[in-house]
Amino acid sequence: MAEEKRSLNFIEQIIEEDLQNTHKKEELKFRFPPEPNGYLHIGHASSICLNFGLGEKYNAPVNLRFDDTNPIKEEQEFVDAIKEDVLWLGFKWEKECYASDYFQQLYDWAVEMIKNGDAYVDSQTSEEIALQKGTPTDPGKESQYRNRSVEENLDLFEKMKNGETPERGHVLRAKIDMTSPNMLMRDPVMYRCLHKNHHRTNDTWKIYPMYDWAHGESDFIENISHSFCTLEFLPHRELYNWFVEKVSKEGELKPKQREFARRNLSHTVVSKRKLMQLVEQGVVNSWDDPRMPTISGLRRRGYTPNSIRKFADSIGVGKRENMIDVAHLEFCAREDLNKTAPRVMGVLDPVKLVITNYEEGKEEWLEAENNPEDESAGSREIPFSRELYIEKEDFKESANRKFFRLTLGKEVRLKNAYIIKGEEVVKDSEGNITEIHCTYDPKSKSGSGTEESKRKVKGTLHWVSAKHALETEIRLYDRLFSVENPDGDKEKDYMEFVNPDSLEVIKGFVEPSLKSAGIQDKFQFQRIGYFCVDKDSKEGEPIFNRTVGLRDSWAKIK
Ligand code: ATP
Ligand code: MG
Repeated sequence: MAEEKRSLNFIEQIIEEDLQNTHKKEELKFRFPPEPNGYLHIGHASSICLNFGLGEKYNAPVNLRFDDTNPIKEEQEFVDAIKEDVLWLGFKWEKECYASDYFQQLYDWAVEMIKNGDAYVDSQTSEEIALQKGTPTDPGKESQYRNRSVEENLDLFEKMKNGETPERGHVLRAKIDMTSPNMLMRDPVMYRCLHKNHHRTNDTWKIYPMYDWAHGESDFIENISHSFCTLEFLPHRELYNWFVEKVSKEGELKPKQREFARRNLSHTVVSKRKLMQLVEQGVVNSWDDPRMPTISGLRRRGYTPNSIRKFADSIGVGKRENMIDVAHLEFCAREDLNKTAPRVMGVLDPVKLVITNYEEGKEEWLEAENNPEDESAGSREIPFSRELYIEKEDFKESANRKFFRLTLGKEVRLKNAYIIKGEEVVKDSEGNITEIHCTYDPKSKSGSGTEESKRKVKGTLHWVSAKHALETEIRLYDRLFSVENPDGDKEKDYMEFVNPDSLEVIKGFVEPSLKSAGIQDKFQFQRIGYFCVDKDSKEGEPIFNRTVGLRDSWAKIK
């Protein structure tokens, strides 16, 4: 498909301007910098598609950098999951980097800064430091430790590094300006003492750098030209530049931080911390629960990499935070799966249909096209016999003229098979329909070329042969939260808006060809929606996840 022509977004405009004025094309380099403290979510997909997308567009390298400066929350499990997700989306990084690989370099630079009078050890508690910070309109107060001698600072910093001072004993602060209108410039903390095991450096370090001190320096070490982050870091830019200035030499190319708006998705939360709470409190079963907005959850649900990339590209980058309706994500899934998913038949809420003039014991294998959107997908054979299952909702004993499905005395077509006519119903003692009896027109077989086969009837129903059908577990998912913005209520916690009916497990009948379906295989159940084989399935016993319905059912309810 031809790439749609679109105008440059504001990030691309920044790059184009820099290419005119300050940067050579071969100097462009980007990074995606997740903290390995959880699984990636759909918001991260925007950042991944932005950074790796720029890499593709400008033929520039993109690093995957783990921002692993907080050993309390970070784990190898998350590193592995993040790598899997980025690869699955179809992107390749130039180098796999870790902020922790730069701990020694960062430490050496910090020592230089102390020697140059740009940093000092503060022995106050974090509460005392906070009290001195001032407010945006009131200047802060200088710490009584601010003017320690270089020797004393070096000695204390060394002790911090060696673990000879207690965890909350001292911090290293940059010596900037306690009266700056930018609160972040009021002597920000660079290091804190933490005697915690790190998932990569183990117990080597007893001090850990803060985000602001580590991030820009990591960008600088890796020769990143443009460092894109979300808008909340806009006020950090001044500090980012201040730190880079301290560690770089004149004439060296310095990374540029630029900000774009976070992407939020309706009816869910996009924050690793909050998603972790859902897992820990058992609201969902795992990070990759198909109801989760994580990349791994969407994958398990049946989303394709292409649908997620299309989604990210179509919402683009912006300067203002906004909420994207999850219906748009579902639309992208439908659009992609429509082209790629083979068609099959499955009945989720069955009622028996008996064709009284069809010979008992007879069976036919009928040809069915695999995907009308894709000729190369070919066809398969499906069994037909006297007793079938159809959906309960596809039959009404009596109905008005707008009901284009099966009623008594009217004709409909069975998909890929024959035209049938409703004759009578069999009911149990409570009046529930147990069987529908119908007759069929033997000359009306689909594709047989007869006059009867070309006869137009109003409705077409999907069905499965009762004798041949495979009974399977089907998991129907709904929105995880029942309101558009679970975070939008100041009085209430987002947990209060969890949708109690986000998962319904049913038994359905599917055509026998699905017995051999493999995990992650995706199908369109005709007239119902898109389904994907869950990883809980056993050989020959597929369990299906509903990825998305054929149509947007929520639009009608609203
Ligand atoms: P979370 O609160 O979910 O942990 P985060 O921003 O702290 O999010 P990081 O691992 O630090 O998560 O993010 C890696 C990159 O992804 C950062 O550049 C960040 O700005 C970006 N990112 C995170 N969430 C979103 C979002 N909702 N929309 C766009 N980009 C995002
Ligand atoms: Mg974070």
